Amino acid sequence: MRYRNKLFSYKNPYNFEAVQALFNKAVLENCKYQYKNCTEYRKILDGMGFNPEIINENGNLPEDIIEKIPVIPTLLFKRMKMFSGPEWKIPIKATSSGTSGKNVSEIGFDLGSLICGLKMVLRVGRARDVFSLTPCHYIIMGYQPHKGNKTAVTKTAFGATFFTPCLSRTYILKYKSGKYVPDFDGIICRLKILEKSKFPCRFMGFPAYTFFLLKIMQEKGIKVKLPANSKILLGGGWKQFYAEQPDKTEFYRLSKEILGVSEENIIEFFGAVEHPVLYCDCKNHHFHIPIYSRVIIRDAETLKPLGYGETGLVNLITPMVKATPVLSVMTDDLGILQRGGKCGCGNPSPYLEIVGRVAPESIKTCAAGAAEVLKEI
Ligand SMILES: [Zn+2]
Repeated sequence: MRYRNKLFSYKNPYNFEAVQALFNKAVLENCKYQYKNCTEYRKILDGMGFNPEIINENGNLPEDIIEKIPVIPTLLFKRMKMFSGPEWKIPIKATSSGTSGKNVSEIGFDLGSLICGLKMVLRVGRARDVFSLTPCHYIIMGYQPHKGNKTAVTKTAFGATFFTPCLSRTYILKYKSGKYVPDFDGIICRLKILEKSKFPCRFMGFPAYTFFLLKIMQEKGIKVKLPANSKILLGGGWKQFYAEQPDKTEFYRLSKEILGVSEENIIEFFGAVEHPVLYCDCKNHHFHIPIYSRVIIRDAETLKPLGYGETGLVNLITPMVKATPVLSVMTDDLGILQRGGKCGCGNPSPYLEIVGRVAPESIKTCAAGAAEVLKEI
């Protein structure tokens, strides 16, 4: 995985053009590895008539190599486990949300991918100034860790409490008699104490629970003024609360009014267990694509790549992981890719806007190729 390691060691996380050739080589390197080591993946590629082994990675790669590599729908990872190499050799496994077995993807992470992931988090996080030596109190708007909970979102929310020295952690989703229950009152009590602290407070976790907290406090007429430099970090998406998603400006207005945290201190992350690249919003709240991944928006019917500004299925590509073939995955999100210059923040890299979700059935139809092959496995 020498090309992968080189890509993840590159200093500027948004200098897209400088690493174009290296990215293509890393993708092909990963594709060859998965093809050789994961039986299911090889069957899918064979079924689609794509053999990476005949492409010479040391030569000049065709520019459209990334879009030609067969796309695996994330739905497939929810139906079956796919690992490249023996399972016992995989140091860490993480699952998508949902703490009970059904409809959950299980993705393996090799040691190399974890090291790459750490480098990525440091570079992308530094670009948005999320690291600090000032200790903070953390309010986690997500799951309290529990041995039965292997979700990536729990691990990443916990990981985010190391962005600064951590003074305390308070969780909204508490594990009680076998299930998770939200404790809004507990968080409100805690905020009343933390507002008097000398140290800043940081929220980390699901935007939906953060928004519901703001609404509940508004209805009850409770306001706090959190210490200077307190931040709201959001991650994990809206999930089942997609319909409740407010306008972003409404969210920022409420955060300022109820918690005293202004818009420049609200940072959102985007990522998925099947595509563990960290996307961090810019000051204009756009998700610019870091050099570790590419995004292709595809037509829902034909799967043909679309241009900037057009809405379609979101195909995410990264050569980060070796232990599971998540090289090129199709999510159930609908999105638009915009040119970097359109944002105005100075980041030249294109940015992704998620505009909705499609039903899993549509994904199945769209990714008919892979699904058909799957039946034969
Ligand atoms: Zn921007």
